[in-house]
Amino acid sequence: MADGPGGSGRGEQGGGGGRGEGPGGREGRGLEARPDTGRARARLEAERRALLASLDRQRQEGRLVSEQLGAQELSGYDQHQADLGSQVELRAKELGLRRRLEEELVEVEAALGRIDAGTYGFCPDCGRPIPPARLEAMPRAARCAECQARQEERGGPS
Ligand SMILES: [Zn+2]
Repeated sequence: MADGPGGSGRGEQGGGGGRGEGPGGREGRGLEARPDTGRARARLEAERRALLASLDRQRQEGRLVSEQLGAQELSGYDQHQADLGSQVELRAKELGLRRRLEEELVEVEAALGRIDAGTYGFCPDCGRPIPPARLEAMPRAARCAECQARQEERGGPS
């Protein structure tokens, strides 16, 4: 049975020991081969803080732009059509960016919830463990790469 790369426990992280008792000490649900959720949690929490900070900035900038937009609409909209157009475009771009940040935040928070629930690191679609390398690259990944690709093909939210 070949279960992919990393099966023999890449010795990168030094300490921890990994087997048996996790850093939190609560084993509870008998899940074996659980990924290092302590590390994932720390990374997810850092990501959440960064996302919240960017969202905050986005909201402030967005408000600024819509205020300018409102002011221009009131005062002689004839002369400044081009300006107005580019500002509308800018605003749309910012809204798009903000939506992406919000979606990411939702994913990060969902991942933190899965850590609490003890289901973190397992793909809900196929039930298999998500490869550690994938979680390492993207701690908020909800699914294994295959199921994620299938989900995106269907056009659902990532
Ligand atoms: Zn899967």
